[in-house]
Amino acid sequence: MPERTIPAQANDAATWTHPALTITRLIVSPLHANCYLLTCRATGAVLVVDAGDEAARILAAIGWLTAGGAGRVAAIVNTHGHVDHTAAVGAVRAALGSIPVLMGPLDVELVLGNGPDAARLLGREYEPILPDRTVDDGDEIRWGTCVLRVLATPGHSPGGICLYGHGVLLSGDTLFRCGVGSWRGFKGDRVALRASIRERLLPLPPDTMVYPGHGEPTTLAAEATGNRFPRRVDADRARPSE
Ligand SMILES: [Zn+2]
Repeated sequence: MPERTIPAQANDAATWTHPALTITRLIVSPLHANCYLLTCRATGAVLVVDAGDEAARILAAIGWLTAGGAGRVAAIVNTHGHVDHTAAVGAVRAALGSIPVLMGPLDVELVLGNGPDAARLLGREYEPILPDRTVDDGDEIRWGTCVLRVLATPGHSPGGICLYGHGVLLSGDTLFRCGVGSWRGFKGDRVALRASIRERLLPLPPDTMVYPGHGEPTTLAAEATGNRFPRRVDADRARPSE
């Protein structure tokens, strides 16, 4: 079928094309979180990653990508449970029908406790959506002919996951361009965050394109040299926790 991408001016969307999939990004919520729509180029099937806010914009983008065929949306994945990555899950799922919501099991508690953050940060109520299926390290998420492997990367939150495959990494709030997500929130752990990046992400191929939960894409090669956080193991020896 002819491949569809969003005219950037139509929805403030950015698009990156890879051999197997096309990645469309919308920046949503007052916290400027990245919502990604991953389109399988062979089949047109779409995977939604981090429906963080602004459900109407996300749904409009999905409408563009699927030519209105919402049945092509395979699942919604939460890289973690924070409010700016999950606040639109309920509305998006309600509009699309019964598509499964997937996330790491250890962040379900976080989703259930997001009410106060939603009131403070988004100025409205939060509808906690429990996952239809939890995913663990090594699980595979398939849509169309695409497949991404789940990497458990605790640290920013206990149940944070990254998704890897086809030369791309969806890194959530574990790894940003020249930075990382905060470990000072709910059950965050700086030592675990550093270990996740060093042991699970940096060993992946250096030319892997990284699509983070906030900010612009990068590569693992760039972060291996330009990001100071993974190298500061001395800080963990000096202060094992904070
Ligand atoms: Zn977060």
